[in-house]
Amino acid sequence: MSSQNLLSSIANVSDDTEFYTPIPAGYKPGKTKYVGVFGTVMSGLGKGIFASSLAKVLKDKGLTVAPIKLEGYLNLDSGTLNPFRHGEVFVLDDTMECDMDLGTYERMLDQNMTRLNFSTSGQIFTAVLEKERRGGYLGRDVQMIPHVTGEVKNKLRQLAVATDADVIFIEIGGTVGDVENAYYIEALRQLAFEEGEKSTCWVALTYVMEPPALGEQKSKAAQLGIKQLLQCGIQPHIIACRAIHPVMAKAREKISLYSSVPLERVFSMHDCDSIYIVPEMIRDANLDKQVVNILGLESRTHPEMELTARDMWRDYLTRLKAGGEAITIGVAGKYTSVRDSYASVIKALEHCGTKLGAKVEIDWIEVTDITAANVSERLAHLQGLIVPGGFGTRGVEGKIACVEHARRTGLPYLGLCLGFQLAVIEYARNVCNMAGANSTEFDLECKHPVIDILPDQKQIEGLGGNMRLGGQDVILKPGTLAARLDNNTPEARLRFRHRYEVDPRFVSQLESGGLIFSGKAPDYPIMQVLELPQNVHPYFIATQAHPELTSRPLRPDPFFLGLVQAAMGLSNPPATKKSDAPIHA
Ligand code: GLN
Repeated sequence: MSSQNLLSSIANVSDDTEFYTPIPAGYKPGKTKYVGVFGTVMSGLGKGIFASSLAKVLKDKGLTVAPIKLEGYLNLDSGTLNPFRHGEVFVLDDTMECDMDLGTYERMLDQNMTRLNFSTSGQIFTAVLEKERRGGYLGRDVQMIPHVTGEVKNKLRQLAVATDADVIFIEIGGTVGDVENAYYIEALRQLAFEEGEKSTCWVALTYVMEPPALGEQKSKAAQLGIKQLLQCGIQPHIIACRAIHPVMAKAREKISLYSSVPLERVFSMHDCDSIYIVPEMIRDANLDKQVVNILGLESRTHPEMELTARDMWRDYLTRLKAGGEAITIGVAGKYTSVRDSYASVIKALEHCGTKLGAKVEIDWIEVTDITAANVSERLAHLQGLIVPGGFGTRGVEGKIACVEHARRTGLPYLGLCLGFQLAVIEYARNVCNMAGANSTEFDLECKHPVIDILPDQKQIEGLGGNMRLGGQDVILKPGTLAARLDNNTPEARLRFRHRYEVDPRFVSQLESGGLIFSGKAPDYPIMQVLELPQNVHPYFIATQAHPELTSRPLRPDPFFLGLVQAAMGLSNPPATKKSDAPIHA
């Protein structure tokens, strides 16, 4: 039976049906195909990197792609998760706070994601429970199967309707065997049944071990992991073997035999130097062609488009490998022992280094150890400094000492969100004679609360999903460094995630002290970008936004580009004649 017939027969069953398959209006059976990526053996195999790389390769062929991450946890979003435990919170343009994997998808695909690309168990259960309260289940007992699984399929098909994608890439969080994701896997089994042949392609990501004491690759754990997937009713079409070294034929053959996947569909996806190499690994191994074949998508692909896209990507990789002049940028943060908390900052620096021919080394500066007495020595070897986003009081004075050092010594500086607020505090205290200036986040009673809670944040209780979030337009003042970095465009769209802002009452005092507010919100007096004139400091700029979230490999973020350029000793875009006019009131 074709998928269309199967879906309509499900829709026409009796009132007391065991089927529960809500199909969103406008769904076109057969249009959207589904690739599911399952993790076996252990977590941390890079499912997101693999899924986004495969999606990129298919996008390069001219196919429309849409990823979705299915998280097992019950939180409604990632906003309240501690970056120590879960890595950075990635904010989407539409305000959704989600897992850092969404950042990998945006960067790899050079495509903005929306809340439809991210699901948690909390969202699924909320939808089910709200429907139950509305009487939406017609007196039925509401069950994991078919109602919760039905909601998962509904979500996938809603994404298909919203994006009209040729292929949806589904990344199932966690590892097969986890209680948390079992119902997602069951939903995908049902999806394959309902959508019919050539509509779904299941990829098992597994791990081939190489115990140092044995010196050879062992495939047993991989076999057992895949067996667990088979027990869930999912027969993988493709197996991607993660490993330290290229996976040898013997291990691949064993895996093929035990999992009934033809050998030419068992691939080695061994470690490589950069995640941006993975799309090329996929192409070189013809893994992409197998997926296109399994899904019957040949007639929708455009090989000539892929050639151009591939050339651009290879060029990026050549420059990435070439490296170049080594420069060291300090990142002064609190979560420095967990690099994942700064994943996008790391990537943005890499994008810029690759573009400019520099090898950017990051020196992680643990700010809780920094004092006015040791800051010069600690930062002496740096060519640039970033104070990234952050929350809470601990480490703040160390960060302010770092900003002061950068401002006084001409060390190129980029402040991100909290790094913007601290630059204001430092300037107020040390240049504008406002001793005791602070943010009310750190000292409610401070003498000069130059940073205060946003007016519409004062009424809010609780911590979930209620900061000033998502993409916002920023008006850039013509002629300023910020505008010049951004090719003199009058407006930029940046991502935000904050509760506090510069109190507008202090703006004129700070400006008469020499600080330039070069980016503002269109409708409110919210300061979004600050800078110092370049005759005072070669590169001192900060933004209330998180430009690291919108940097892309082939389109690096201008603020970061400017920093790396300044760190390399190159000057940033010179002012045009017109903009040589006084730039601050
Ligand atoms: N804690 C600050 C605020 O809430 C900065 C937030 C951030 O750096 N993301 O405004």
